[in-house]
Amino acid sequence: MSNPTSVENQKVQLEPPVITRAPKRSRDYQQIPLFKDVNPLDWEDWHWQLKHRIRTKEELEQIIKLTPSEEKGIDKAKGRLAMAITPYWASLIDAEDENCPIRRQAVPVSDEFLISPHEMADPCAEDRDSPASHLVHRYPDRVLLLATDHCAMYCRHCTRRRLVGDHEEKEGDPATKFDAAIDYIKANRKIRDVLISGGDPLTLEDEVLEALISKIRAISHVELLRIGTRVPVTLPQRVTENLVNMLKKYSPIWMSIHFNHPKEITKRCKNACDMLSEAGVPLGSQSVLLKGINDRPYIMKRLVHELLQIRVRPYYIYQCDPVRGTQHFRTPVASGINIIEKLRGHTSGYAVPTYVIDGPGGGGKIPVGPNYILSQAKGKYVLRNYKGKIYTYLE
Ligand SMILES: *Cc1c(COP(=O)(O)O)cnc(C)c1O
Repeated sequence: MSNPTSVENQKVQLEPPVITRAPKRSRDYQQIPLFKDVNPLDWEDWHWQLKHRIRTKEELEQIIKLTPSEEKGIDKAKGRLAMAITPYWASLIDAEDENCPIRRQAVPVSDEFLISPHEMADPCAEDRDSPASHLVHRYPDRVLLLATDHCAMYCRHCTRRRLVGDHEEKEGDPATKFDAAIDYIKANRKIRDVLISGGDPLTLEDEVLEALISKIRAISHVELLRIGTRVPVTLPQRVTENLVNMLKKYSPIWMSIHFNHPKEITKRCKNACDMLSEAGVPLGSQSVLLKGINDRPYIMKRLVHELLQIRVRPYYIYQCDPVRGTQHFRTPVASGINIIEKLRGHTSGYAVPTYVIDGPGGGGKIPVGPNYILSQAKGKYVLRNYKGKIYTYLE
């Protein structure tokens, strides 16, 4: 049982004041020598961005001075989950700061090759719960469909690094590769919600994505379609008029966007989110708690406030899964609980996401958070509020 006085005496962490309107300090890409001659029309072309991703030390060195750990990391990450950074994302890197959150999420370091004993290749046991190729069925009424192994940018904390990357193998014929998954969804009338993720489904061409979406929409018991993506953050140029008009046809489509740090919310990203919102796609965010990137409550508070301003509802904060090579990113669970403690009651309820741990071995998302029930007996609940004050509720 928690001791109520310990709540009142909780140490107040000294933190910098909360700035809700963070300065948009992204460098103009034309200031960066590597990109200074790029035609603005090319810069806005998502195919150009994908084709010109930074994959080598030599290219990256033209933007930042690499540390020895990064040099080793880039060399070792040659196979699965090799480095690939869109010019857009690279233009947000602060060249002066080796701890820049944009840089750390994209540039491999030698720590990625330290595997700790409890880390796993497939920590959420998705492969075990796969009844058909590209499909994960864990919860009664919804499935996860892994539409591609590719992403615009490869996050160094990727939980699906066992699958994801620009490997050589062919992705398979998009016209038939999802047949077994579609047949499974058709045959299971309990499935009312299909989450299309990957990899990043928005790296697929419009026609390929539409073919998949229209097949799922044609299944009468599927009420809800969702897309999990990071493209509005790593490659906002991908969100074109053509894409949003296509998505609009299959409404309701909801979207979960992976955002980790307020620096990711640029004018360009806001513009992509506005286009999606205006096409009637409700937007939610998913963040991964990452050490030194977003594990301080004031950073997370700034992120969730800025998300609401671009009409993105904070949805989940994930504890960083125990996937192989991510120990340097992992925080104690207490950091996540503390973030929720500092948000709930202190700011708009809409700004408060749910902090979850994906139960290792396939337990699914388990919410964890501050304890507000101090005691519970016959018809009587003793509760504390966000300030630590005690209240009794009689049933
Ligand atoms: C996260 C997840 C979902 C969706 O979960 P919600 O809590 O409904 O957002 C569905 N299937 C799997 C396997 C997942 O990991």
